[in-house]
This record gives sequence, structure tokens and C-alpha cells, in this order.
Amino acid sequence: PNAALQSAHAERAANDIAAHLHPFTNLAAHPQVDPLVIERGDGIYVQDDQGRRYLEAMSGLWCVSLGFSNARLAKAGSEALHTLPCYHTFNHRSNAAAIALAEKLIAMAPVPMSKVFFANSGSEANDTAVKLVWYYHNAIGKPAKKKIIARRNAYHGVTVAAASLSGLVPNHRDFDLPIDRILHVDCPHHYRYAEPGETEEAFATRLADALEQRILAEGPDTVGAFIAEPVMGAGGVLVPPATYFEKVQAVLRKYEVLLIADEVICGFCRTGEMFGSTTFGLRPDILTAAKALSSGYVPISAVMVSEQVHAAVAANSGKIGTFGHGFTYSGHPVTAAVALETLRIYEEEKVLAHVQSLAPQFQAGLRRYAGHPHVGEVRGAGLIGAIELAADPATRTPFDPAMKAGARLAELALQEGLIVRAMGDAVAFCPPLIITPAQIDEMFERFDRAMARFE
Ligand code: PLP
Repeated sequence: PNAALQSAHAERAANDIAAHLHPFTNLAAHPQVDPLVIERGDGIYVQDDQGRRYLEAMSGLWCVSLGFSNARLAKAGSEALHTLPCYHTFNHRSNAAAIALAEKLIAMAPVPMSKVFFANSGSEANDTAVKLVWYYHNAIGKPAKKKIIARRNAYHGVTVAAASLSGLVPNHRDFDLPIDRILHVDCPHHYRYAEPGETEEAFATRLADALEQRILAEGPDTVGAFIAEPVMGAGGVLVPPATYFEKVQAVLRKYEVLLIADEVICGFCRTGEMFGSTTFGLRPDILTAAKALSSGYVPISAVMVSEQVHAAVAANSGKIGTFGHGFTYSGHPVTAAVALETLRIYEEEKVLAHVQSLAPQFQAGLRRYAGHPHVGEVRGAGLIGAIELAADPATRTPFDPAMKAGARLAELALQEGLIVRAMGDAVAFCPPLIITPAQIDEMFERFDRAMARFE
């Protein structure tokens, strides 16, 4: 980097430290850490304010599916800003983009869905799902059926209810979470939690049995919903073991427990189908989506509901006089226009077929690391995957957490011009869906160089 860029960066860094409270950052350490200031992006690459280029193998935070320079999305956003920069959808108001987007989502949904509610983030979508579960059970005369079961290592967001649904320690600790009525059951990570010699199918049976026992112990009349990411993202890209969702859903049906599919990461081609629910056989009553819904270009999320849920909620709102929930920016005309254009691009540019054609190369590329002396497990589906490091792969012994193995490897990758994400000892890959075969090779070449330096 040249001296002028360096001094401009130094000033920016000082200002960042002075003024900016960062999410998911060690705030105590931040003053000693040089922030990475990203200035621009093109295709699957981003560039920092000192002119260094990185291959963004995480699509930012699992969201920039169409890469960082899609002209159609920029145009759709700009036109919407010039036509109707803001309007709301409360009290029977609407706009053309929100209407078309809702219609399109219903047409694309992995199971029949009746209506779409819009919010601005995955957290808000999941918070909305929680409130819908509660409202629904009041509406159908089962006011005790309110507990929601989530899973350890799940990530569903950070608002009070979504953080409670999440099953990760830092999201709860010292925030006095989770709130009442949100429970956690076992994480379906076969590599980490299966008994020695236990098959994926046997492990799935054991977890489904444990779920049933938990529902019985709580009282089936008190359990309203179960929430799951098809592939658990922030928990470490955990792909469900064979037969898991089939067995879990049999239990849910038996006790009339609704299923919420959190498709915030998996939605829109990521797992090799339009939705992770299709890849893994989920039939949700409520589905939440965000991130790739707009390729991350603008904040928007969606909650799709089945007719069973919608009918009860609508009838109840009729009694009360309104459905007392909604955000100022629900169905915002600019975010809806960008999301609508994103979905059109998925269809017109055959992005799903592209993902399906690249997935074998991507997954094989990841699996080449399986024999590495410090790799415990390699896992993934479609264009998402992770490599889990281990101190001793033979005994599945993890590294001492104080060694920050995943973070060290991610830092080495950054030095090689590659952005991956560390989650404990796992390092995740979730590249833009527009990545080409040659760029997949380039991604793994950069990662090879990082791995060669990892000890
Ligand atoms: N659900 C899942 C599966 C996520 O991965 C995330 C974010 O990473 C969220 C929900 C929360 O979304 P947001 O950060 O937009 O609130």
C-alpha cells in the first residue's frame, strides 16, 4: 500500500475506534486491532482502503449471492429511490414492488404458503415468527401452547426473542437470555455428538426420541413450535444427519407442534435447491428468509405462513380490530424492488442450475482437506461448507479453545487474500453463487497457502 493510502487508513482506523461500537467484536480489544475497512467490491472480490483485494469466500455474512457489483440490482434500487423512496404498508396501504415480491415468493416457496410478511432482518423475521406462534395459539384457543423449541448451536439472530432462540453461549451470557418459554434441545452434529460407532440414522433416531421425551416432559399442550435452520450456519455449517428431519417432523406432527424453517442462510439456491427445506425435506408452517433475498444489497426479510396459520391469525385480528404487528419498513418500496430484481435474476440467469453444476467441484475441493493432519471433519451441501480443525483427528480431540485455531487459520487466509469465517475450530466457506469454476480453484489455491502455514 502507498503512504497516502496508509495515512488515510490510519486516520479512519482511529475514528472507527473513537466512534463506532461494533457488533460481534471483542470491544475491549478493538482499540488495539487495526480494523479492516472495505471500500469497494467487484464480482466475488472486495478491496480494502489500502488497495488490497480479497476473494470474499463468505459472501460478506452469507448474503451477497450475486457478487458485489450487480448492475441490475443497483439500477432497480436507484429507480425505486427516484420513484417512491419510502412508503409504508400499514392499514391496507401497499406498493407494486411489495405486491409483486409477495406473489413471487409464494410461487417459489418449497411448500404451499399463503401469505408473506416483510421485515428488515433475519432477526426481525424470526421474532415475527415467534409472535405469530403465540398469536396463532391464542387464536385457536390453545393459549398454553406457547413454548418454542430450538437447538443448541442454532443461530436465529439477536433481537430478544431471536437471541433466545439462538443456542450459542455469547448470545445469551450476561444478556439475561434466553427468555422464558424458549427451550433448547440437542444439536444434530453427528461428528461431535454421536456415540462411538453410532450411524447417522441411529443418531437421528436418538435425537428425535429425545425431542419426543422433552415434549412429553414439558407437556404437549404447552409446546407450540420447533425452529430449525436446514443447515445450521453460524453454529459451524452443520449439515443434518440422514433421516433427521424426517424423524423430527414425525414427532412434531404427533403433538401438533408447528415447524418454523429458518432459511435466512439456506434460502435461494445455497444448498443446491431453491430452499434448504427442499434439500432436506422440511415442510414448514412458517418460513423465514433474508440475506440472499436481496443478495444482501438492502436490508429485507420475509416470513411466509401457511394458510392454516394465516386463517387463524386473520380471524383473530378481525376480533381485535387489527393485527398489531409490523415495522415502519415492512414492504419498503426500495428494498422490495431490489429483492424482486434479485429473484428475477435467480430465474432469468439460471442461478440454481449454475449452483448445481458447481457444487460437485466445490464439495470435492473441500473434501481434499479431509486427510490433512489437523482436519477433523469436512462437511457441506451445495455452495456452503466448512472444514473443522482438530488437534488429533483420529480421536476427534479439538484444539484447546485458547489456541483459537479457527481464527488463526482465517487470519492466515486473510493474509493470502481470502476471506473465510472462523466459528470455533471450524472455518466456513459460502462464496457468492456467481463464482466460476476457475474462481473456485483460485479460492482453494489461496486456502492451500494458508493451510500450508497453519500449525
Ligand atoms: N437466522 C440465521 C440462520 C442467520 O444466519 C442469521 C444471521 O446470520 C439470522 C437469522 C439473523 O439475521 P440478521 O442478522 O439479519 O438479523
